[in-house]
Amino acid sequence: MSEARRVVVIGAGPVGLCVALRLAQQEVPVTLIETLGEDNFLEQVPRAGTNHPATLELFDSIGLYARLEPRGIVAPLLHYRDRHGNRLIAEFDHARLRDDTRFPYVLQCERIKIVEEALALAKAHPLIEVRLSTTFVAFEQAADGVAARVTNPAGEDETVAGAYLVSGEGARSIVRKDLGIEFEGFTYSERTLNIEVAYDFRRHGYTERNYISDPDEWSNLFHWKGPPDRWRVHFPTAPEEDAEALQRPEALQARLQGFLPRQGGYDIVGSNLYTVHQRVATRFRVGRAILAGDSAHVNSPIGAMGMNSGIHDAINLADKLIKIMRREVGDEVLDRYERQRRHVALQHTQAETIRNKRVLAEKDPAVRRKNHEQLHRTAEDPKLARAFLLRTSLLESLREAEQIA
Ligand SMILES: Cc1cc2nc3c(=O)[nH]c(=O)nc-3n(C[C@H](O)[C@H](O)[C@H](O)COP(=O)(O)OP(=O)(O)OC[C@H]3O[C@@H](n4cnc5c(N)ncnc54)[C@H](O)[C@@H]3O)c2cc1C
Repeated sequence: MSEARRVVVIGAGPVGLCVALRLAQQEVPVTLIETLGEDNFLEQVPRAGTNHPATLELFDSIGLYARLEPRGIVAPLLHYRDRHGNRLIAEFDHARLRDDTRFPYVLQCERIKIVEEALALAKAHPLIEVRLSTTFVAFEQAADGVAARVTNPAGEDETVAGAYLVSGEGARSIVRKDLGIEFEGFTYSERTLNIEVAYDFRRHGYTERNYISDPDEWSNLFHWKGPPDRWRVHFPTAPEEDAEALQRPEALQARLQGFLPRQGGYDIVGSNLYTVHQRVATRFRVGRAILAGDSAHVNSPIGAMGMNSGIHDAINLADKLIKIMRREVGDEVLDRYERQRRHVALQHTQAETIRNKRVLAEKDPAVRRKNHEQLHRTAEDPKLARAFLLRTSLLESLREAEQIA
């Protein structure tokens, strides 16, 4: 079974690609299995796109940042706003992190651009065998290696052998299910409606990233580079609402008009509806099979932490696998990976995104007022604002994970 130093990575999402690039750049051969093919790889629904400073540092370390910056928007500011009267509650400026990071801003660059650029790097790397249109089906492991069963583009069954298997397959991970690992947590009953619109909201005081509080209809508003430049607006929807009815053009227009009335209507470029989960796997590793990214944890996108923390998993894990392959450490370091990254998933990513949603959706007027005052005070105080940004940008979670033995 053993393919002495090869790592089999399932999924060419942002996480699988970052694992593969880091490993290969340190001389570890990788087979990367991806079910999507050349024809449909770039047709994935819009998802993540806000990349925090800590993630930009990691992108830079694998040669990806320079390819992403020209395709994204450098956004130092973050707004918390009250939809009532379109009032600015608090403005946070990432410039406050200039002594903490080389990247005192977020980069608004969508997941699809990240995977496109990372896949190009992976294809060009001699130590990465990229297998598109190949679907992972099951796996076995023994003391000396793993064997992944896949269906190749010709529809035939094949076995891919390696020393370790990394599941970067996303939330529906077969590896996690095969290992019988619980995905503990909950799913929100409301779904989120995402509307993409070509309109420049900055003329109304918004910045590139806005979290907008409202007891009846909280929302998020984000700016993405075009052409044409687009803005994504997120709205909650009631559980009983029909998906098709919610996304009819007239229903989308009505939502946007309710958000910000505009004569002549909006140029809507797309929409989608998604379910939001808060779940963390009870184990991140069993033997030679390891979970990373959405395969290990999923969370609400409010706070933009899912992909970011997944990429932090990717680099943490790859660095440990590299040392194992060099025989510098034993594979018990993979248990440390689990301790570090599960801690971050529960105490940072999950806790923070639950808190974000609660603040935006708060209905009690007195609590709402208190939340807004606290956000305002925090943004105005240089020390508090820096501490806040260290947390939201995930720099604190990386530092804390380093302290975990
Ligand atoms: C609307 C929305 C907005 C979001 N915004 C943000 C944000 O701003 N910032 C942020 O950090 N996160 C955000 N997220 C979360 C983010 O999208 C995910 O956390 C991230 O994409 C996870 O990356 P991944 O590589 O683990 O998995 P995925 O992105 O799901 O990639 C998995 C890959 O594995 C492949 N695959 C799956 N099964 C198989 C199989 N059996 N065989 C072979 N290949 C397989 C898939 O085709 C895919 O390419 C958002 C999510 C949503 C829904």
